[in-house]
Amino acid sequence: MENCIFCKILANQLPSSNVYKDDLCTAFLDIRPVNAGHLLVIPNQHSSFLSGLDPDTGAQMFRVAQRLGAALRTGAVPCDGVNLFLADGEAAGQEVFHVHLHVFPRFAGDSFRLHLGAKYGEPPSKADLDALAEKLRAAL
Ligand code: AMP
Ligand code: ZN
Repeated sequence: MENCIFCKILANQLPSSNVYKDDLCTAFLDIRPVNAGHLLVIPNQHSSFLSGLDPDTGAQMFRVAQRLGAALRTGAVPCDGVNLFLADGEAAGQEVFHVHLHVFPRFAGDSFRLHLGAKYGEPPSKADLDALAEKLRAAL
């Protein structure tokens, strides 16, 4: 993908601070970290969205994120917790359209927050949940 910054990083046309690479995915530090040690795991093959991502690559991205989270916690960036976050689509907050899984360290009392919208808080009924679960089962 010609204009994709992450493809350019993979092709060494843009700088990155690399941490991991295998046949399927690559991990490097985010240049605007939530906290120091914020990593991105990306597929080596361009895919803009999860819908186009090879499932084996997606599974490997998660495996690598799990290892990176452990590496953060066990010494590289001793932290109290780790978040994994993936934005799929602009409405979900995606800004770079090459799939990427964020892995970032968290510290008790750090300032990172997910902002919950005004509609959050009113729980749906069990009947509504069951109807939605049925719809989702049918869509799988
Ligand atoms: P998202 O909002 O989920 O699409 O996140 C995109 C992330 O990519 C942001 O956290 C950016 O800071 C990060 N980012 C953008 N350009 C670069 C780059 N050249 N190297 C490393 N991280 C980048
Ligand atoms: Zn790309």
